[in-house]
Amino acid sequence: MTFFKDVAQVFLEIEKRSGRLEMTDLLAELFKKTSSREIDKLIYLTQGILAPPYEGIDLGMGEQFAIRAIAAVSGYPKEQVEQHYKKSGDLGLTVDEMLGKRKQLSLSREDMDIEYVYNALLKIAKTGGAGSQDLKIKHLTEMLNNSSPAEARFIVRFVLGRLRLGVGDPTILDALSVSKTGDKSLREPLERAYNVCSDLGYVAKTFFENPEKINRFIVQPFKPLQPALAERLSTPEEIVEKIGKCACEFKFDGFRLQVHKRGKEVELYSRKLEKMTHMFPDVTEAVKKLKANEIIFEGEALAYNEKENRYYSFQQTMQRKRKHGISDASKELPLNIFCFDVLYLDGKDLTEKPYRERRKTLEKIFPLGILKLPNRKIVKTWKELDKLFKKSIKEGLEGIMAKDLSAPYTAGKRKFAWIKLKKSYGKSVDTIDGVIVGYYLGRGARAEFEFGGLLVAVYNEDKGRLETIAKIGSGYSEQEMVELQKMLDDIKVEAPPAKLDFNEAQKPDFWVEPRYVIEASFDEITLSPTHTCGMDEGRGHALRFPRMLKMRPDKSIDEITTTQEVIDMYAKQGPH
Ligand code: ATP
Repeated sequence: MTFFKDVAQVFLEIEKRSGRLEMTDLLAELFKKTSSREIDKLIYLTQGILAPPYEGIDLGMGEQFAIRAIAAVSGYPKEQVEQHYKKSGDLGLTVDEMLGKRKQLSLSREDMDIEYVYNALLKIAKTGGAGSQDLKIKHLTEMLNNSSPAEARFIVRFVLGRLRLGVGDPTILDALSVSKTGDKSLREPLERAYNVCSDLGYVAKTFFENPEKINRFIVQPFKPLQPALAERLSTPEEIVEKIGKCACEFKFDGFRLQVHKRGKEVELYSRKLEKMTHMFPDVTEAVKKLKANEIIFEGEALAYNEKENRYYSFQQTMQRKRKHGISDASKELPLNIFCFDVLYLDGKDLTEKPYRERRKTLEKIFPLGILKLPNRKIVKTWKELDKLFKKSIKEGLEGIMAKDLSAPYTAGKRKFAWIKLKKSYGKSVDTIDGVIVGYYLGRGARAEFEFGGLLVAVYNEDKGRLETIAKIGSGYSEQEMVELQKMLDDIKVEAPPAKLDFNEAQKPDFWVEPRYVIEASFDEITLSPTHTCGMDEGRGHALRFPRMLKMRPDKSIDEITTTQEVIDMYAKQGPH
């Protein structure tokens, strides 16, 4: 049994260190002491969650409620807690200090173990209905009554969704391997297991119950896989040079769905692995008709307008969900799913099979009703590829996907198993995906919307930091501006995001929590003294003439463009 006070002690140590190696060792030591019954819960607590994100379990506690619980436990008036918080900027620090000087001492403090803390947090999350906020506060107060100041620090941050230990999943994977073998030798199978189930707690539990099993870990329904990602190249020649003979498919600009079925039970997951089942009853019904008892497959969903015989883009497909009632939308703009990969079928994990075989399996199952099969052609030369690319553009599509016939399904990885060729490549127009970290107020004509543009950042993988790349002031429709401001208002924060490196010259009027991803186009990448992306000797990178293209609600902030990708794009622009 592991006590939460020992966990809190390790978290405190981790906070003081920033090196991955040190963090790995600290965690590995803690894992060694933990039983297979507790390990999944400890992993979730370290990740700052209660279950894998696709389960949608949210603690849903606001600052004000935590403040009330802190006041009740510490014996200080609420106003004093608030005052302290204003200075510290972190309710975790506030509760730590205030409990240290606690006015009332709790008489019946008991040591809490991991299971107790986890279950108590789960209880808070699951408390719903009328009067639920008061009950949540009561549960939190009980837990804090049993806490030492350090334990309380992490519990409060956890319930607010701000644990942020700075421990990434790769570090946890390393630590799991080290805890059992003393080295990182099992990191690879552990990572594969994680990529094919997206549930780190479950991976750890399986591993602790029987380390052998991690080498035989198989995909299973209702544990979504991290989607495989495509590399990009700029010309058909480069593609054929890279992978030779390959399968060429049209690239549909729709909405990626991962479909899981067992018997009559069906779930649909978005690219970010959020459950979308309730949004697409028409798809669920179509999937139920498949003969396979158990199946996992992926496809691109596109709304189809029969009258005009045309497909709708990603954005229009998304609007279908928002605008129409869900059932009306199915009638007016029926969805078609282009099923492009199959990952599991009736007890068999297909992810390690070459694409050639997976495609054959797909062809046995699809098409069926709205579940279509994308056309594909095997090509040997770049000319054939080019012809198909041009055809796709002529048909109003985005471009093509070239697929390596011998490649396995590369869950969670961007590999040359898939290579995309899009219409904007080769020209000067390119795009990046960035996360919004702040916004500016409008000046002049735009003032009435009080919205003047976004400060956008990309991710520096080496440093684990966000770095600014553009202030984007154009490309918005009026409606978009209003919507954006409303969304961003809800996630305003006082201080700049902790992970962000920025220059005062780009300071926005409001900072926001880095949550929303947008796609932006630009003319070229230039060097900038004030944007921090890839900053070296006073020169960072910035987008020249950046324009907002669209929101990317399907992308999480872990998927934004990296600093290295920007530096590569800059280098590709040729001599400067
Ligand atoms: P990325 O996924 O590479 O980060 P992105 O989300 O902007 O970038 P694209 O670059 O447009 O997506 O290309 C990848 C996406 O293309 C896949 O996630 C999938 O949704 C979509 N897609 C469309 N047609 C196909 C197809 N035939 N095979 C595989 N993916 C396809």
